[in-house]
Amino acid sequence: MHSYQIGILGATGAVGQKFIRLLENHPWFTITKLGASTRSSGKKYKQAAHWIEKTELPSDIADITVSDCRASEFTDVGFVFSGLDSSVAGDIEQEFAAAGIPVISNAKNYRMHDQVPLLIPEVNPDHAELIKKQTFSSDGSGWIVTNPNCVSVPLTMSLKPLADAFGINSVVVTSMQSVSGAGYPGVPSLDIVANVVPYIGGEEPKVQIESNKLLGQIKGDTTEYSDFPIQATAVRVPTIEGHLLSVSVKLEHPPADMEDAKRAFTEWDNPIADLDLPSSPELPVRLYEEDRHPQPRLHADREGGMQTAVGRLRKGTVMDLGYVTMAHNTIRGAAGGAILNGELLAAKGYFRQES
Ligand code: NAP
Repeated sequence: MHSYQIGILGATGAVGQKFIRLLENHPWFTITKLGASTRSSGKKYKQAAHWIEKTELPSDIADITVSDCRASEFTDVGFVFSGLDSSVAGDIEQEFAAAGIPVISNAKNYRMHDQVPLLIPEVNPDHAELIKKQTFSSDGSGWIVTNPNCVSVPLTMSLKPLADAFGINSVVVTSMQSVSGAGYPGVPSLDIVANVVPYIGGEEPKVQIESNKLLGQIKGDTTEYSDFPIQATAVRVPTIEGHLLSVSVKLEHPPADMEDAKRAFTEWDNPIADLDLPSSPELPVRLYEEDRHPQPRLHADREGGMQTAVGRLRKGTVMDLGYVTMAHNTIRGAAGGAILNGELLAAKGYFRQES
C-alpha cells in the first residue's frame, strides 16, 4: 500500500480530464493540485474546464483552484502526471524535474531523450532503471518518465509476444485513429463526419521510432533500439475512442502453424503480474477468435480501457502474419498508461517520499 498526493499538469485538456476520472477513488494517489495555462489558472476547475467525460466531475476536484504550471506552486506533491500540450511540455516538465518533482508525461517532448524511459510496464519495465542516470535535478530527486504515442501502445503490446516467441523482422501497420486522439475540440466536424482523412501530421515517424525504443535493451546509460523496419500509415476515422490497427509482420523464425502463432499470445507471460498494480488489467493482451472482433465501440472499454485487443490473426500472403489490434487511446494510450507507470514506479520504490 502506498500513499501520494499528486498534481496534474494540463488538467483541463482531454487527457487531463481522463486522469481526473481514472484517479477518482484511486487507492494510492490523491489529486491535490491541478495546473493549466494562464487562460485557466486562478479559476475553480469546474469553471476552467469544459468537462467532456461521461461520468460526473468529482465534487472534491470541481472546487480546486487551477494553478499556473510552475514548480513553485506544486511543492507539496510527491509527483505530477502531465497531459500538457507538447508546445509547452518541454520547458515546464524540465522545470518540475529540476525542482525535484518527478514527472510522468504523456507528451512527446522527452520520449526520445537518451536517459528518459519510454515505458509500458508489461513490455519494458526494466527500462525504468534509466531514471537513475538522469541529471535533470542536482540530487536525482526529480526525473521524467514518458509513455508512448497512443498508436505505439497497441502496436508494441501486440508485437511483444511475437518478438519473444519468434523475433521480429519487419512490420507494416495502418492505424485507424479515433477523433479523441486529437484532443478537444480536435478535428473539425466537416472534415471527419462520414469521412476518412488519410493523414495525421507527425504521427507516422513517432510510431516507427517509439516501437523500436520500447522493444530495445538498456545498455549502460542509454537504450539500444531494436532495428527492424516499420512502415506506418496513420488515418483519422470517425470513431470516438479506440485506435484500431491493421498489422502485417515478417518474423525471424516463423511459427510452425497458426496454433503456434496463437499460443504466442495466449501463453505470453505478463512480467508485472506478480506486482498486483491497481490499474493492471487481468489480461493485458487478449486474443479474440471471432472474425468480427475487436471493434472500437464494443471492446475499447474492456478491463477499464487497459486491455490491448488482438484479432483476425491469420497467415499472411506477403508477410508471415496479419492481425488487427486495438487499444483505448485516451486510457491505455494516454492517462491510464501513465497511471500504470506511476504505480509501477511506486511499487519499485522510485519516488523518494510518500505523503
Ligand atoms: P488538449 O485537450 O489540447 O489539452 C492541452 C492541455 O495543455 C490543457 O490543459 C491546456 O490548458 C494545457 N496548456 C496549453 N498551453 C499551456 C501553457 N502555455 N501552459 C500550461 N498549460 C498549457 O490536449 P490532449 O489531447 O489532452 O493532449 C495532451 C497531451 O497528451 C499532448 O501532448 C498530446 O500529444 C498527448 N497525448 C494525447 C493523446 C490523446 O489520445 N488525446 C494520447 C497520447 C498522448 P488550457 O485549458 O488552460 O488551455
